[in-house]
Amino acid sequence: MVLKVKNEKNRKWYFLVLYIVIVIAIVFVFRKYVDNKVRQQSTGVLEDLAHHNVMLIETKVNDTFQKLNNLATEIVAQKNYDYIHNRKEMKHFAEVLGFREIGVAQLDGTAYMSTDTKYNVSKRDYFKRSIKGEQYISEILNDMRDHAKVNIYSVPIKSKTGDVKGVLFGISDAEDFMKIFQIPIFNGYGYTYLIDEKGNVVSGSYNEEIEMTNLLENLGYDSENKEAKQSLSSMLQERKGGSLYFNAHGYCYANFTPLNVNNWNLVTVVPEDILQQQAKTITSVMQMISLGIILGATGILAFFIRLQKKSEEALKKIAYIDALTGLYNKPYFEEKFIHNIKAKSRNQAALVVFNIRKFKIINEIYGEHVGSNLLKSIATILEKTLRFEKEMVMHGYADEFLALYFYNTKEELEERITTFLSKIHTVSYKNNRIKINMAVGIYEIDSLECSFERAYSYVNMAKKQHKNSLVSSFEYYSDKLKANELEQKKLNDEIKEGIQKKEFKAWFQPKYDIETGDIVGAEALARWYKNDNILSPYYFVEFSERVGFIQEIDRLIIEDVCEKMSRWYKQGLPYIPVSVNLSRAYLNNEDAICYLKEILEKYHIPKEYIQLEITESCIVDSEQELAKVIDFMHELGFQVLLDDFGVGYSSLTSINNLKFDILKIDKSFVDSIGNVKGEEIVKYTISLGKKLGMDIIAEGVETKEQYEFLKQEGCNMIQGYYFCKPLSSDDFEKLLYTLEK
Ligand code: C2E
Ligand code: CA
Ligand code: CA
Repeated sequence: MVLKVKNEKNRKWYFLVLYIVIVIAIVFVFRKYVDNKVRQQSTGVLEDLAHHNVMLIETKVNDTFQKLNNLATEIVAQKNYDYIHNRKEMKHFAEVLGFREIGVAQLDGTAYMSTDTKYNVSKRDYFKRSIKGEQYISEILNDMRDHAKVNIYSVPIKSKTGDVKGVLFGISDAEDFMKIFQIPIFNGYGYTYLIDEKGNVVSGSYNEEIEMTNLLENLGYDSENKEAKQSLSSMLQERKGGSLYFNAHGYCYANFTPLNVNNWNLVTVVPEDILQQQAKTITSVMQMISLGIILGATGILAFFIRLQKKSEEALKKIAYIDALTGLYNKPYFEEKFIHNIKAKSRNQAALVVFNIRKFKIINEIYGEHVGSNLLKSIATILEKTLRFEKEMVMHGYADEFLALYFYNTKEELEERITTFLSKIHTVSYKNNRIKINMAVGIYEIDSLECSFERAYSYVNMAKKQHKNSLVSSFEYYSDKLKANELEQKKLNDEIKEGIQKKEFKAWFQPKYDIETGDIVGAEALARWYKNDNILSPYYFVEFSERVGFIQEIDRLIIEDVCEKMSRWYKQGLPYIPVSVNLSRAYLNNEDAICYLKEILEKYHIPKEYIQLEITESCIVDSEQELAKVIDFMHELGFQVLLDDFGVGYSSLTSINNLKFDILKIDKSFVDSIGNVKGEEIVKYTISLGKKLGMDIIAEGVETKEQYEFLKQEGCNMIQGYYFCKPLSSDDFEKLLYTLEK
């Protein structure tokens, strides 16, 4: 049971840990999922944004090129390749197309501007490219005129045959270009770069914190960004889009998209913490949901645990509570016993057993429901004797109660017990005052490892020491008792073994006719052939009666007697009546008497040769029962002898009612022969027995004087050392042979 409870406790811990791990795992996975989702969403948004910007840039740039191309076509149509004939017109064009100024460069690089100025642009990239036939937009440059930051769009001026005759270029404020993709993203925390195929920053909505000229180089400064640098350079080479994650004064996500303008690429960057901030609402909603899940799951779990606890408690109640008194029962007491002793709050612990003397009689007189109510009242009072934590009381079978008490001194313990006994001294019930007489056994527990079984057997031993006291009393378990009990236990085992080995044999003590001195019978007396010893009945009869072996011993003796008688008869010796002693245990048991008959039949012994000796003390137990048994014995054909007459307290009327065939005067009366009073009693007994139609035999006759007196008073038979001691079957057989001669 203890083990089971322990296991159950471990299991509970196991489930709790499992539950916590599962909840943490769920929350963790959920978080991871939410984070991923947020990241995916953010990079998706970033990508969308980049595509949008790319489209804007491309449209704007293409538009601009378109306008310039149209103008270039116009110039070609007017065949005015190296000369802009009308500066006014140019100015107008510049305004219409949204340029600060426009210029027409001749093949040698001489450029005529709408602002009436003339430069040589032969060294400029845009010129170099467009003169080769490309349309081109420069990176941010400084205007030669006023050093403003500008982008220059250039297209070739081609003749109808396709020859490049010059370059038309428009200068626009860099700001205008930047404006295209400078719409604030992520609340202004995001930024954009245009980079060329080498990673050089062409334009961008610069992050003020980062001085950036070349993105590839910049990524190279931080070893953390090695991976980002690699993927950027491969994206640049392959001209394909993708995303980047790098550290630039904080972690950033970036989208890389190639443009159809020069070999430029658009890089849209957003710091991670901005993304996270964006995702904050989602995350916090998710967190609320996870919290909800955890709380819900915990609630459900708690509900189930409570439910389980409740049903466990209900079960425990059924299993551990005594239905009649509401006290704990023995299994509970047993389970908690050692644990509670170890937790005792005083120096000493004692197990105490309480038993009501003659509870059966109370039940018989007042009825069982009174008995039950009595037990309930006692339970209530007993429960109130508990003083310290871990003390306990229980109700066992019938009228048995047990208590575990703690104390510092014996007086303290005894005071508690006597107070309890005085409280239950009498119990009133419907005008009846029932007197309660309790037998109490105490065992002072001397070891913390004392098992319940052991302590329980000790209190019972202590309790059994009681003489049949008329008032409640208590006894302690002592070492002497323990030694005694061990001896008894040993004897018990030995008798058991002796019965199995049929070590119990009959000895025979002859009975003599007082007139003639002839042997007229014999009494069978049990002897125990134990190893080399022959033990007298004083050694085992009383104990066997107490523990219940006596019937088996009696049977062995009767069988031995019958076996010997039949053998002697077969050897030509006559039957002589043999009396066997019957334990009172037989007298409640008709089957046992029938068994006698079976043995006699087995050995073909005529029933009149077997007499049954019953001691006078049997009459006191229950006269009516005994009368029935004697009748039954007579029915079966046995003679019945009243043994030990004079020792008990049987009245003369009861002797009259009981129809004994023979009355045996006890040795103690025979011993009193010699003094006047004793002789009077013997005289009176003999004449009374005779008057009641019984034969009289005297036992324990040791002297001639006793023999003469008994003969004179008319006693019929004599048994005693004066004539013969009990003999072994061999010796008795020899004696029988001498009679024949
Ligand atoms: P009991 O039935 O009164 O038997 C007579 C006892 O007195 C026997 O003791 C016998 O040996 C003893 N005795 C006989 N003559 C004299 C004498 O002159 N002087 C003295 N001092 N003693 C004498 P035993 O054999 O030791 O038996 C003791 C008791 O054991 C018996 O008393 C009887 O109650 C019981 N018992 C003996 N055998 C059996 C048996 O087979 N079954 C049962 N249930 N009880 C038995
Ligand atoms: Ca006897
Ligand atoms: Ca006797």
